[in-house]
Amino acid sequence: MAVCLKSSIQNLNLVIGCTIGCSYCYARCNARRFHMSEDFEKPVYFPGKLRLMERSRPRNYFLTGMSDLAGWDPSWRAEVFAKMAENPQHQYVFLTKRPEQLSISTTLDNAWFGVTVTSSREKGRIAALREHVHGGHYHVTFEPLFDEVGTVDLRGVEWVVIGTETGRRKGKAVSRPEWVYGLAAQARAQKIPVFMKEDLLPILGEAQMIQQLPPAFCRVLEEQKSWRK
Ligand code: SF4
Repeated sequence: MAVCLKSSIQNLNLVIGCTIGCSYCYARCNARRFHMSEDFEKPVYFPGKLRLMERSRPRNYFLTGMSDLAGWDPSWRAEVFAKMAENPQHQYVFLTKRPEQLSISTTLDNAWFGVTVTSSREKGRIAALREHVHGGHYHVTFEPLFDEVGTVDLRGVEWVVIGTETGRRKGKAVSRPEWVYGLAAQARAQKIPVFMKEDLLPILGEAQMIQQLPPAFCRVLEEQKSWRK
């Protein structure tokens, strides 16, 4: 049965706000709806949340659910990376649409740096990620999809996530099954784990859904089970 990715990876929104301005941004809608920030276009850092990373029970954390890593001030990034180094029991997932603006070199083995690719025009972001981020692990999220991305260079990539636009935006993009299958087939040919997000279920049907996580994330989930709350 298809599961929600949020059941395996928990949002930890250390930064709220983003300047990129995607028309389909659910984070901006939520930030406005729940009065989480004065002005979403001005990213705000919440260092008080860093203490959540001190929990001993391992977790997979998604740190850019309401921001883009490229929009983080370098001083915020330094503080967060230092905290990550002190807490290697967790895995930490980041996403960006502006990898060319990053300059990261890290020895953190539990950091997962990814790019979002939503169309064939954006697949150069994967090469830009390799060029501008050194260390950690790479992943790619194809969501939402506006056209057929086609052949992608997945060298060094250790996880591929595929989805479709969520929400009720007028004219929202719906991923076509053949686009999803094409990307999944390329990843699987290279033995890269593929996770089709739950919103693809009505498009693909249960039998076609693939929901794989990298081994490091699975280990965290296994370890979690051995902990009492
Ligand atoms: S990059 Fe992400 S957080 Fe920023 S506007 Fe686009 S969808 Fe929203």
